Amino acid sequence: MALIFHIIRTEGPINRTDIVTRTGLSKSTVSLQINRLLSRGLIREETPGGAGKAKRKLRLELAADSGCVVGVLLGIHALTINVFNIGMATLVEGAWDMSSVIEPEPTNRFIMEKIEELFLKAGIPREKLWGIGIGFPFPVDFMKGTADSPPNVPLWNQYPLRKVYEDHFGCPVLIDNDVNVMALGEGFSGAAQEEKDFIFVKVGTGIGSGLILDGKIYRGSKGCAGDIGHIGIDGETRLCHCGNQGCLEAIAAAPAIAARGLEAAMTGESPLLEDILQSRSRITSRDVGDCAQRGDMASIRIIQESGRKIGSVLAKLVNFANPGAVYIGGGVANSGNLFLSSIRESIVKRSPHLATIDLSIRFSELMARSGPTGAGILIVDELFSFSRFQETLDHRLPAEYPPAR
Ligand SMILES: [Zn+2]
Repeated sequence: MALIFHIIRTEGPINRTDIVTRTGLSKSTVSLQINRLLSRGLIREETPGGAGKAKRKLRLELAADSGCVVGVLLGIHALTINVFNIGMATLVEGAWDMSSVIEPEPTNRFIMEKIEELFLKAGIPREKLWGIGIGFPFPVDFMKGTADSPPNVPLWNQYPLRKVYEDHFGCPVLIDNDVNVMALGEGFSGAAQEEKDFIFVKVGTGIGSGLILDGKIYRGSKGCAGDIGHIGIDGETRLCHCGNQGCLEAIAAAPAIAARGLEAAMTGESPLLEDILQSRSRITSRDVGDCAQRGDMASIRIIQESGRKIGSVLAKLVNFANPGAVYIGGGVANSGNLFLSSIRESIVKRSPHLATIDLSIRFSELMARSGPTGAGILIVDELFSFSRFQETLDHRLPAEYPPAR
């Protein structure tokens, strides 16, 4: 039944004959299983447009409104939550600034409250909540469902994230790191829909990457594949918050860009940044990106330098994995084409011709939406995976009606 449902969910609307052809199962088996899925309300027939012959051609599709899932992306400074129906259409969404995520308990309580508020706001009954996917801004042990040695927020270490949410909401929960869910989101409905092998890079407060290989997220043996922020850059000595020197993150992420912008403002190297510093008493990476786009030479140099360093690490990944595309997301991606072209230049310079000849290097199309979308698809795919499908039927839908007549 999971196979037939999978076909209807991913290829529907589809007629019964095509399902028989696709599965190689007998007509009667297909019919029996379709009737069971119909009786559970998980699929439906297209709204009839006519009688007689037209009615016989009715096709089957996912009953997208039978349940919903929540996709959450927590950043160091912001929270985004989307509630999707199980067909992944957004029903309601919200975004909040986070003043601090240092402590896990109040932060997770806040996230739970916001999820509940969205359900109330949209008038969705809580029993329609089938599952939650969450992306966190630090390494996560995907199998155990815990945070693992998060360098920025040490209090979260080993915090039982998945259990806390499952106990509270009484539904399946999956947690992952932010950039993995962003990669999934971009692959589901963003720029990467046609790509089977790609790298998604987030450049924000930190730097990380998500690897999609053969259409699936590659987590590695312990779940930290793609954690490129702490790869050392030759000749760099700036101290990183992880305790090492010269990490990519320490020299190219948003705080490093902001720090260099502050220097340029204080030394008078950049009159534009100097003005901003005088009026707001601080410089952010976004200020540097904006000034670069306005032609400020010092800001241009800072943004190019960051792009080149990131590109030099990405070149190694491109050499190793030969992806079809690289997508850049995260807050610093708002710095414009100058940033992207510096990344591209470094990758092309340091990679073999064959690896870059058709390599597409672009900004994320979904940007801030990539995270919640990916977290949503992470849990929807899990709910309808072959191993969990029966449990989803048993626990998320009303009991089977007695067979009609
Ligand atoms: Zn580091």
